[in-house]
Amino acid sequence: MADTMADTIADSTAKLEINDAPGAPAPAPPKLQLDEETGEWVSKGELKKRLAKRAKKASKDKNKEASNNNNNNNNNTAGETKKPATPPKKEKVEDAPIDTDSMFKQGFLNEVYKERPVKPVITRFPPEPNGHLHIGHAKAIAINFGFARYHGGYTFLRFDDTNPEAEEEIYFTSIEDTVRWLGFEPYKITYSSDHFDTLYELAEKLIGLGKAYVCHCTDEEIKLQRGGDKGASPRFRCEHANQSVEENLGKFRGMRDGQYKPREAFLRMKQNINDPNPQNWDLAAYRVLNKPHHRTGDKWIIYPTYDFTHCLCDSFEEITHSLCTVEFFLSRTSYEWLNQQLVEYQPMQREYGRLSIEAKVPWSMLSKRKLKELVDKKIVRGWNDPRLQTLIALRRRGIPPGAILEFVNELGVTTTNSIIQMSRFEQTIRRYLERTVPRLMLVLDPVPVVVSEAEEFEGTELTIPFSPKNPAMGDHKIKFSKTVYIDRSDFREVDSKDYFRLAPGKTVGLLQAPFPITATSFTKDETTGLVTEVQAVFDRSGKKPKTFIHWVPAESAGSKKCEVRIYNSLFKSENPAGAEGGFLNDLNPESEIIYSNAMIESGFDEVRKRAPWPEAAGEDKLGKGGPESVRFQGMRVAYFAMDSDSTDDKIVLNRIVSLKEDKEKS
Ligand SMILES: [Zn+2]
Repeated sequence: MADTMADTIADSTAKLEINDAPGAPAPAPPKLQLDEETGEWVSKGELKKRLAKRAKKASKDKNKEASNNNNNNNNNTAGETKKPATPPKKEKVEDAPIDTDSMFKQGFLNEVYKERPVKPVITRFPPEPNGHLHIGHAKAIAINFGFARYHGGYTFLRFDDTNPEAEEEIYFTSIEDTVRWLGFEPYKITYSSDHFDTLYELAEKLIGLGKAYVCHCTDEEIKLQRGGDKGASPRFRCEHANQSVEENLGKFRGMRDGQYKPREAFLRMKQNINDPNPQNWDLAAYRVLNKPHHRTGDKWIIYPTYDFTHCLCDSFEEITHSLCTVEFFLSRTSYEWLNQQLVEYQPMQREYGRLSIEAKVPWSMLSKRKLKELVDKKIVRGWNDPRLQTLIALRRRGIPPGAILEFVNELGVTTTNSIIQMSRFEQTIRRYLERTVPRLMLVLDPVPVVVSEAEEFEGTELTIPFSPKNPAMGDHKIKFSKTVYIDRSDFREVDSKDYFRLAPGKTVGLLQAPFPITATSFTKDETTGLVTEVQAVFDRSGKKPKTFIHWVPAESAGSKKCEVRIYNSLFKSENPAGAEGGFLNDLNPESEIIYSNAMIESGFDEVRKRAPWPEAAGEDKLGKGGPESVRFQGMRVAYFAMDSDSTDDKIVLNRIVSLKEDKEKS
């Protein structure tokens, strides 16, 4: 009997070993499954029964509704057979890790390589250092670094620092950190500003070729030259396009030497104003900004534009495949045109679809000024607050870099932009965590349960595997104590027939504990109305309980108090900017729910010691494993990661993602 039971030890529960309790009965480990409707762990048989019962009820309700309709319509269709409602099919959880090279082996990126099958492949990731990276950048990083790595090449991290007005030091560090966190190592870190001297010389060369001129037109005039509103009128060049090479050179040097204020003069490329592609309509190459640069200081007051700089830097670094998002598709012509005028080495630009996540309030809808206000007024916990949508925020929240890479791969790379629902992203994270992190017991809102006549088990060590599916994760021990803590939501003062957790007179299984418990009585704080303690006894009858709940031993047995933070949408509406009295009036008061008295079992110490989790993907190799790499599944609760606010004495946990999809949209 015991042997056959042992064979059926399954998924959701672990084998229980009682190490030093003489004469203690070894309880048969039941095969437990999660009842997704109630969040309870129940036996397979019980779950089957419940599903059948619900299906029957659903079918009955449907029939009732149908017959009501029929009666209302006075249209009795007796004899029509009603289909019984079937329980919803469970989504199959894919266990195997996704091959994160698959996107290079097939599809768009494979075609790009076949167009130019060279070795070594040299790519670049060229962020502007004017903000923190978001999920779309994760795709760019995965593509650029991954493509080169897959083909045995390397990647430059190049800061496109040509706009001193927007750049700040913190962004450089944050971007570099994020690249490493995602598991990539730049071949070299370069800056567009490294090339300011060469770029300047090439600009003079372009003027010498008669392919650039200094223009003094206003924005309004330029708009008119480019066809005016909706491009309805004919396009034309201004008089400045007719200046001689010498005149242009003189004026360009004048720009450099401070003879013009910003907007009084700028250098334009002489492309093809009659071409239908707006990227050929004499784009700006250099402008006067009169701002010091964080790397070149006061040396320059003129700065090259993106259109002038990017393609040339790609050539300087001998980039073989310059991969960017589709909004640069039209720029490909100007990219190639300028390189052909000025340089020998010709890189190849190709464009893929951008990735964004559909959020209640898209990141892009909040200006940097508004975000800064949130940070400065301490409404959020800094730029990496888990409620924000930057990669540093996702990191702090505990989302593993490996899950982000899997997500990018899973979606594949094509030339179409994709806006992905948050729920799909979360499903990938959940699946990844299910496979890779250990399980622990954590109680959010603890209520003590004093089990009488349990003295003999006080201090009994229970050995619990970290994962029911993956023995390689090992196990840990917790000590039983006669006072245990369960979640407030698992106890009811008044029992009812359709309730299967703890209530007076009711028996419930404690995951891994020697026996189920039956509640006998409880005490209550009359002022708050809250239950302060439940009294219970062991049920030693051998009868298996219908439901199992999680619990933690007392602090004296090694459990620890911790603070748990659960995050929801930061704003109430989808358009905080439109809120009366300003966007701050639209803050969701429940955007951060704190459980300050939560308790975690002692196994946490080992999980913390053995971080990073996942072990297999090795966040230590994927960049440094910070506090957020201490990840686990709180059984029946959610997935959690340690927050950077944690200290040696205080544990702070963030909810990464719930165990199953939330019905409410986040
Ligand atoms: Zn002009």
